[in-house]
Amino acid sequence: MMIDSYLHKGMRRKLMQEVQKKGVEDPQVLRAIESIPRHFFLDNAFLKFAYEDKAFPIGEGQTISQPYTVAIQSELLNIQKGEKILEVGTGSGYQTAVLCELGAKVFSIERQRALYVKTKSLLHRMGYRAKLFYGDGYKGLPSFAPFNKVIVTCGAPFVPEALLKQMQTGARLVIPVGKGDVQIMTSIDKEGENNYKRLEYGRFRFVPMLEDRISGKF
Ligand code: SAH
Repeated sequence: MMIDSYLHKGMRRKLMQEVQKKGVEDPQVLRAIESIPRHFFLDNAFLKFAYEDKAFPIGEGQTISQPYTVAIQSELLNIQKGEKILEVGTGSGYQTAVLCELGAKVFSIERQRALYVKTKSLLHRMGYRAKLFYGDGYKGLPSFAPFNKVIVTCGAPFVPEALLKQMQTGARLVIPVGKGDVQIMTSIDKEGENNYKRLEYGRFRFVPMLEDRISGKF
């Protein structure tokens, strides 16, 4: 059973304030951090870490992103209500929940089947209506394109061409780019059909974006 107590709410308020101190200003993003029970997204053994501003293991060798990182990426996306967002790397679903709270229509892809199944059921139980897909984020979701915003939550060795193609003119992509264990947070604005503006926001650490699914064939 999922219980959200006053204790959890108090810890969440502190977490929100910590994220704010680190430089996140968007009031809606801060409100999302304060309202989403992050402990629902962690395995029981890690409950007491749910409200520390740190990344944590979620099984299958993956992590739930650090709240500060989730907040920065969400702020950079500058989401308007009703926008269509493509997320690559559903993972625990925490970032997905933040995007939903911001009023986005979220389409999220995860390449690990076990995580996809687990997170789909959790988000559903929590009442989020995100559309989740088991597949390869390098390919995006051509049949649901174009998107208003695209977010990648794993470290990409390069910017996948398919994601650029699936952006509407005026759309923004927020993606950590880098081959090693450090990535540069990057935003790419599609200003015209073949006209992109790229900006960088410093160093972050993500689990790598991998090609193809681990099990099963396409
Ligand atoms: N936003 C997530 C972050 C999870 S870590 C959260 O807050 O929990 C990144 C996730 O990206 C992992 O679950 C990993 O399996 C997934 N991933 C890696 N490469 C991928 C790809 N090519 N397509 C889709 N998902 C991918």
